[in-house]
Amino acid sequence: MQLSRFVVAYENVRPGEHVLYSVLEDRYVGIDDATLRAVDRWSAGGAPATAEERETQGVLVEDRFLVEGRGEDDARVSAHLDKAREGVPGTMYVTLMPTLQCNLACNYCFQKEHPSFTKMSSPTEDATLEWLLRQVDERGLPTLYVHYFGGEPTTRKDYCLRTAEVLSASMRARGGKFRWHMTTNGIQLDIEFAQKMESFAPGSFKITLDGDRETHDRMRVYRDGRGTFDVIFDNVVALARAGCKVYVGGHFFPDQAASFEALLDRFQQTGVAPLLAGIQFRPMVDTQQRSSGTCTGCSEKQETQTLVQLNKSIERRKMAPAAENGATLEGLLGPCELHWKNNYTIDPEGRIYKCPAVAGLPGLEVAQVASSMPERVAPLLELRPWEKCGDCPYLPVCVGGCLGGKFLKTGRRDEVACKKDMFEKSFHESVVHRYLAEFPDPEWTEAA
Ligand code: SF4
Ligand code: SF4
Repeated sequence: MQLSRFVVAYENVRPGEHVLYSVLEDRYVGIDDATLRAVDRWSAGGAPATAEERETQGVLVEDRFLVEGRGEDDARVSAHLDKAREGVPGTMYVTLMPTLQCNLACNYCFQKEHPSFTKMSSPTEDATLEWLLRQVDERGLPTLYVHYFGGEPTTRKDYCLRTAEVLSASMRARGGKFRWHMTTNGIQLDIEFAQKMESFAPGSFKITLDGDRETHDRMRVYRDGRGTFDVIFDNVVALARAGCKVYVGGHFFPDQAASFEALLDRFQQTGVAPLLAGIQFRPMVDTQQRSSGTCTGCSEKQETQTLVQLNKSIERRKMAPAAENGATLEGLLGPCELHWKNNYTIDPEGRIYKCPAVAGLPGLEVAQVASSMPERVAPLLELRPWEKCGDCPYLPVCVGGCLGGKFLKTGRRDEVACKKDMFEKSFHESVVHRYLAEFPDPEWTEAA
């Protein structure tokens, strides 16, 4: 018997009390000094010394903290990854890019220097809808979830309304359901458009605010350099007060914690904080370094300390944390959508990708909406760089990290985007927090 390689130990969460956490099972157990020493002994080939130890070992085997050997871990991680490939069960998850055009010129965005104006044509729009519904039928999926992305999708409100209406009616006719989410800069967002979209199906908006006014206005600007904070903040408040589902996201540099705290203060002072569906801040990714793609939400460089501080602040203020892709993805712990079999991104030319970060880049597509050619293996997955990750305990949730972001920065498909440091700190923080909240009494017992 040995400790599974996907188990990490957090020692002395209280004096003499230790926690084993299985990343693979998302499960924890409290153990005492004697058990911690016994686990080391068993992992080195020793047998339980007493009946009590044998019983403890049995419990740890049953809960899969202990395994027979590498083979058992290999089989379990392989089954886990197969299951993770299902993504959101029963759901076709598609990111649609009606245009690459954007009405802003944010300082960290590739579009600042290389504005793009490509829009999806009417024939490509028709072919996209046909392709989508064909996939839903062939795969027998009851839910279609569309993520409107860009460019800026609200510069194509016509497209969003038309496709939402068609897809909503088509899914209803099949006895299924349609849901949507929109990532928008919020500049042109108005209640009338939001409510019209909601009349077709329930949906949500994710709007970016990169800190409070001063910080945000240095980054997110119109082409003439004017800041956008006031317009966006007012639209967030108006939509939230109108009952629309609004998530707020933001990207920070490590020294900007105070500005993001000020933004949280502002949400509380205007009374809108409890009306927001969720809020999530991430480290900044500067896509100007090398790319002509866009990314919905990945970061290779983690500014862990600021991230942990802001997450704690959101929790302390009792504001809802959220996955930025909306309610459907909340709570999913595991590999990103690049690995999901029913996930695609379609660019304005009708090229189909597995990762939104590389959408628009020729050669990285897996299919085309107007072509009958079979889908090919995603170039980002082809070289399986995560196989170099050895015994990393975080493999089940990471699988090499954001391979799309890595490719944009380095042009390489054979390297992982490792965030082990961030995983170590954030898992430690959140697991110990969960454990101590569940077992506040020092008279703890083994439990999961
Ligand atoms: S590789 Fe990165 S950008 Fe692509 S889907 Fe995964 S997290 Fe998102
Ligand atoms: S990329 Fe890093 S954190 Fe992710 S599985 Fe590989 S070694 Fe672990």
